[in-house]
Amino acid sequence: MRLWNKIREKISQESLFDNESQRIIVLLRCVYLVLILYYAIFFVLMTFCSQAEDEFFRVSWIALLSICATIGLLWLSYRQRIRRNLILFIAMEILWLTGFIAVFGWSCGAQQIMFVLVVLVYFSFYDALLQKAVFTVGLFLLRFVLFVVSQKYGAYAELHGRLLILLQVWSSLSFFTLMGLICGFFSSNIETADKNLVLYNQLLREQASTDSLTGIWNRRRMRAYLSDNIRQYPQMPFSLGMGDIDLFKRVNDTYGHDCGDAVLKWLTELLQKTMDGKGHLCRWGGEEFLLYFPEMNGDEASHLLIDFLLVLRKTPFLWKEKKIQISMTFGVEEYDFYSEPEVLIKRADEKLYIGKEKGRNQVVF
Ligand code: GH3
Ligand code: MG
Ligand code: MG
Repeated sequence: MRLWNKIREKISQESLFDNESQRIIVLLRCVYLVLILYYAIFFVLMTFCSQAEDEFFRVSWIALLSICATIGLLWLSYRQRIRRNLILFIAMEILWLTGFIAVFGWSCGAQQIMFVLVVLVYFSFYDALLQKAVFTVGLFLLRFVLFVVSQKYGAYAELHGRLLILLQVWSSLSFFTLMGLICGFFSSNIETADKNLVLYNQLLREQASTDSLTGIWNRRRMRAYLSDNIRQYPQMPFSLGMGDIDLFKRVNDTYGHDCGDAVLKWLTELLQKTMDGKGHLCRWGGEEFLLYFPEMNGDEASHLLIDFLLVLRKTPFLWKEKKIQISMTFGVEEYDFYSEPEVLIKRADEKLYIGKEKGRNQVVF
């Protein structure tokens, strides 16, 4: 278990360079490990499934050479930029598969690594599509040439019998594993990116529609909500209450802006309690709140706000052990089943100013 953890730690060790995709380097290391195992088994099969005097035995050192080269790539992955490491890997694999086909013939299955290379190049490099397409065509041509040459001239030690079957099975298994590994990796990458994008969009939308000081809806959100609501439920009654803090400038001037901010937050909580989860509250402007009361007529909304003013009268705001008496003035307007939200809000605002003129600390309907 401890050894496994150590291996995992080593494989996921970050690249030394900035601006590198840490995840791709981890994938590459996993690919190298699978390949090392592939060459190792290849070597074992070559050595033990053929007689010592066979050609196969004599050429099985190619697999050993490939193991050493892949270990070298793995070592370099901790010291090199990912791009260089990947290019080196591709070059080495092309060399290797050409050599293998020349020595063992087309039937050794080494050409299947080409599909792995194409997928890696398409997903790991941030190059233009044209470059990737050129690489794919180049690989296709190489495959074609290798096929023709191997068919025409044969191989140095053509595979046959049990060894051919074993190596074919092992090659297919290894390359399918590699394809699965790479595709699984990139599909989970895309999924994560998609999820993050959705979350980020949600966050942006929330930020664009909430007031940063109080955390409640801002004017923009409330406007959109009212328009949508009237369009969706044109027959649903509701009322609006526009509230403004009385003589708030004086609070700021006397106790400071921080105190003013704290009053705004405190009032938000009190108003939310009054609404008791029904309707919506928004910060309409500096020290103005707009309240939406669904399925309530103007009288019902006014009563609720009068109760709120009574609570406010009994509950002074505490600031550095000083009691500050806060009051508000409200204008209430009920939905007439045909006016636009903007018109209703304007009427509530006009009533609010009537309340201010009449001495503040009251609800006007
Ligand atoms: P009235 O009773 O007529 O409404 O008097 P008022 O003093 O409340 O009205 P006025 O419009 O003269 O002042 C509003 C003040 O609200 C001025 C501004 O400094 C303050 N204000 C607006 N937004 C904020 C805020 O986010 N934080 C703080 N602390 N003060 C704010
Ligand atoms: Mg005001
Ligand atoms: Mg005011």
